[in-house]
Amino acid sequence: MQVIEARRGIATEEMKFVASKEGVDLDKLIRNVANGRAVIFKNVKHDVEPVGVGKGLKVKVNANIGTSMDIVDVEAEIKKAKIAKEYGADTIMDLSTGGDLDLIRRRILKEVKIVMGTVPIYEAAWYALKRGDAIVEMSEDDMFKAVETHLKDGIDFVTIHAGVTKEAVEKMKDFKRIVGTVSRGGTFHAAWILHNKKENPFYKNFDYLLELLAEYDATVSLGDGLRPGGLPDATDFLQIHELYTIGKLVRRAREKGVQAIVEGPGHIPIDQIEANVKMAKIATDEAPFYVLGPLVTDIASGYDHINGAIGGAIAAMAGADFLCYVTPAEHLALPNEQEVKEGVIATRIAAHAVNLIRFRDEYEWDYEMSRARGELRWGKQIKLSIDRKNAEKIRKERYPENPEVCTMCGELCAIKLLREYLDGKKGE
Ligand code: SF4
Repeated sequence: MQVIEARRGIATEEMKFVASKEGVDLDKLIRNVANGRAVIFKNVKHDVEPVGVGKGLKVKVNANIGTSMDIVDVEAEIKKAKIAKEYGADTIMDLSTGGDLDLIRRRILKEVKIVMGTVPIYEAAWYALKRGDAIVEMSEDDMFKAVETHLKDGIDFVTIHAGVTKEAVEKMKDFKRIVGTVSRGGTFHAAWILHNKKENPFYKNFDYLLELLAEYDATVSLGDGLRPGGLPDATDFLQIHELYTIGKLVRRAREKGVQAIVEGPGHIPIDQIEANVKMAKIATDEAPFYVLGPLVTDIASGYDHINGAIGGAIAAMAGADFLCYVTPAEHLALPNEQEVKEGVIATRIAAHAVNLIRFRDEYEWDYEMSRARGELRWGKQIKLSIDRKNAEKIRKERYPENPEVCTMCGELCAIKLLREYLDGKKGE
């Protein structure tokens, strides 16, 4: 196990790979893995390049894909996973809820070599629905069986909403929200607790869950099932109550040598993002923090990828380690392939904006682009663009008469004009 080896001061192949890929000091990485402030995603059963997340490492990007009950197209989901990888996602999560979930997950795992996470409670709900039961009738056994199935298949990290406890659900009556809960997994648990009048099985049997994870050296992503779904609900009692429960669970995971990350909101007003990140870091003893966006306004339907990228950049600057993308289809529909691409690119830009401040190699990319722009080298500018195909298409569609410049200013090109005078080609 990564944590156990790190505590012995031993560098695993995964640690060596991550340190070398990111150009970071291996001893520092070992120390951060040992104390839980960095994790390395890699299920022992998954033949994939490991990905490190957390202290001292670059900010990473996750893309969610997966079917819904309304739209089931396995080939499209595989394509989306490939697109996400191509445009810079470090990980993907298969959040399928429609069709044959086992088949979809296994197809994606087989066809796209990328670190992958899931939310096994969706599968537990699927087992119940297949039997003709209601979601709240899923058994504790269904829940743990789903986790075990995913781990056996090679899933590297699983979202577990163990912070949605009976106590938290009881508080929901006193702390009413405008939007309610928007996490599917969190809501399944809350409804299950209310219906069965029992404690959340993942919370109650957390040690057993850790045993399963340890067997595969998989990471638990402690899901924020009570995250706010709108700005008026941000940073409320329910969110913070859950965060402190999650903080306790992080410590229990560390005691068992299981790697843990913590999921965060959601929807946060721009001036509360930094406080949210700092609070999460304090409550969880600096566990890697994985934010879903966050979205800084509620009115950006159709453009929520931009909304999420704004929040993601601010969160990452404040210390968030892992950004979950948001697509333009958020709040409206299951994203299509183009929307997955746009979501990944927007979030990749947010992560890169922070990484280039901290990592020399990421800054080189921008430096090279600045040079190419200053020298009006168009081929190089296109080659260095985050989405080359799109950059090339735009230039070609509106190609200038003088290929030295672009059609924005044409012969009035400021860069060209100044260079000509500085070089002495004009004004003599
Ligand atoms: S034409 Fe204008 S926009 Fe285009 S490169 Fe020159 S200064 Fe920049």
